[in-house]
Amino acid sequence: MIEVVNKIDLSSGPEKIPARVLVHICCGPCSIMPLKAILGSAEVWGFFHNPNIHPYSEFKLRLDAVKKLAGFLSINVLYDEEYKPIPFIKGLKATSDGVKHPPKDVRCEFCYSTRLEETARAAKKNGFDAFSSSLLYSKYQNHEQIKGLGVDLAKKYGILFFYKDFRDFWQQGIDNSKEMGLYRQKYCGCVYSKIERYPKKYMKIPPVLK
Ligand code: SF4
Repeated sequence: MIEVVNKIDLSSGPEKIPARVLVHICCGPCSIMPLKAILGSAEVWGFFHNPNIHPYSEFKLRLDAVKKLAGFLSINVLYDEEYKPIPFIKGLKATSDGVKHPPKDVRCEFCYSTRLEETARAAKKNGFDAFSSSLLYSKYQNHEQIKGLGVDLAKKYGILFFYKDFRDFWQQGIDNSKEMGLYRQKYCGCVYSKIERYPKKYMKIPPVLK
């Protein structure tokens, strides 16, 4: 039996939830707890925007998982369904001096900032009071960097950044995703993270990255 809307009481915490929040969704499993947390106290919409995901088959699996989750939670989601990894790779190369395989700290900062900026822009354009991100749920991401970027973008776009350390709900999110039968990915998303899954002896830089 799937518990779809279990309200998480955030009212006693220091973070007051704004009335309408747009939550950037990186993938289904990581979004469950951030969406549920806000759902009990505010109007929440999701925003799927992840041009970093490689290859298209993986992008589609994650997109479909988010659609399934949106059905379970009965929430609205804005979907950016266009598959466009090349601008991400070119933008990353431009910010990392053309390095073929940019190190994780460099590429993740670029990746976070592009996805969060698009979310802030979409939130502002569509009349939301705040934006947030499922990236704040993951124990594998640079949490402080994401938080800092969110705060900076909030100032830039004149909109609130709803911050919460959703990692507190880590196990609950995993359990829920399994109960819902959501697709659970094996790597973060970009081509570099896919390559790094395998032992170094198998690593080959694809021609498009040279
Ligand atoms: S490892 Fe993940 S967060 Fe970092 S650049 Fe790749 S997809 Fe983005």
